[in-house]
Amino acid sequence: MTMAIRRLALTVSRYSGAQRLFRLWSRGPTVLFYHGIEENILDREVQALHLSLRAFERQIAFVRCNREVVSMDYLYECIASGRGLDPRQVILTFDDGYKNNLRVVAPLLNAWKLPFTIFVSSRHISEGCRFPNYYIRAAILYTQSESIHLRSIRQTFPLTTRTKRSAALATIIAAVKKAPQHVVDEVILECREQLSRAQWEDLDADFFSEEPMSWQDVRRVSEMGATIGSHCHDHCILHSNQNEEEVCRQLNQSKSTIEKNVAACRYMAYPNGTVADVSSVGYAAAKSAGFRIAFTSVPGEITRDVDRFFAPRIFATADFEEFCYLLNRTSLQNQVYTMARLQGGASGNQATIEPN
Ligand SMILES: [Zn+2]
Repeated sequence: MTMAIRRLALTVSRYSGAQRLFRLWSRGPTVLFYHGIEENILDREVQALHLSLRAFERQIAFVRCNREVVSMDYLYECIASGRGLDPRQVILTFDDGYKNNLRVVAPLLNAWKLPFTIFVSSRHISEGCRFPNYYIRAAILYTQSESIHLRSIRQTFPLTTRTKRSAALATIIAAVKKAPQHVVDEVILECREQLSRAQWEDLDADFFSEEPMSWQDVRRVSEMGATIGSHCHDHCILHSNQNEEEVCRQLNQSKSTIEKNVAACRYMAYPNGTVADVSSVGYAAAKSAGFRIAFTSVPGEITRDVDRFFAPRIFATADFEEFCYLLNRTSLQNQVYTMARLQGGASGNQATIEPN
């Protein structure tokens, strides 16, 4: 089915009320996750994690009309007490800690009196450095070299066309997502070497969307009502190739740094957050670090039997009809979540699955 036909089918099913049928099976709140929101997107591939302001406003207008946005603390109280969980409830979350969360998101959500949560990667906030994906995407798409050899992952990529550059990006990003943290750091260094300081300054200025907040910014957004949670210290993906010491450091250091600079840090979101990105060690470390809830990117609803340290979230996709469809059919995702929990438990990926 082409995109246009699919969109038309989704529009018809929404207006006809057919999508409302899915709501009959809905059992609990939906936690949505975004990254950044920007007025202008210059390059979709470099700024892949940012949604346009126009798309965001339309989505939030839909949520305001059809759901009730509640705070993270309220969600926790409902889970802990086993009372008050309602399929109409939506929780808004933003990962990484981009400056546009303060500049664009906070004023908008404040105007609508909607609570929200931001999961920040504490080293990026402390040092002002950008995220691995940005350095990789910008270097591969904008280097003038016609090929690149990355010693850290022992691979060479031809970069003679935009298609080849996109293919190289996909391979490098996939490799980085499975690599131990020290290899991720080496890939970033190698990518940064691809462009001169002046070229980086130009790209950094063009892609200001990628800039993380400072601690002063995080305090301001917290004063504007945002709940601040952890997203590890180095945005470290907690897969089974990371050693236990590194995983514990990532969680404990981010939690204490947020608490020193802002306020109590009670929630976290696993970077990347798929089943493979929550190792048994990561799961146990999130639990022992004292978080109330640890969120994945595994889709599903927050039901009464949710595992608080493997909580589901729904990615807010850019296309409006797809977004509405996803939000209306969250109950169908519960099966995906249950399978993911079983898969994690069965493969030893998660230590033990405990309700609440
Ligand atoms: Zn992230």
